[in-house]
Amino acid sequence: MSFLTEHKGECSPMRQCPNCKSASFLRTNLGDTKFMEFIRLFNEEGAILTVEPIPLETKLDDVPEFRTLTVRTVNSLKTDNITTVGELAEKYESELLRLTNFGRKSLTEVKAMLAAVGHQLSKAP
Ligand SMILES: [Zn+2]
Repeated sequence: MSFLTEHKGECSPMRQCPNCKSASFLRTNLGDTKFMEFIRLFNEEGAILTVEPIPLETKLDDVPEFRTLTVRTVNSLKTDNITTVGELAEKYESELLRLTNFGRKSLTEVKAMLAAVGHQLSKAP
């Protein structure tokens, strides 16, 4: 299934492909919380939505989807001084799971959030 997971033909930030346009449409019209629910379902099989990746130096606090995470997850990340998208994206699943109070549910949340902004966690070496 390539709907929303693969770019359809030529695609650039200036001229998005139909799949990117659909993803942008959903993001705009569902709102942050609903969009995150959608991404979470979508991301269950590890599928990554075709969205324009946001800059890695973006502060997590400035990412709308970050505000939909549970307090528990947010606190775990803050305690470990993970404050930017890049700092989060360079982590492995196993590293995150070792954080205080960071369980499977937090992992699912974080993966969906990253997918929503065009990134994913590092793959285990
Ligand atoms: Zn595209």
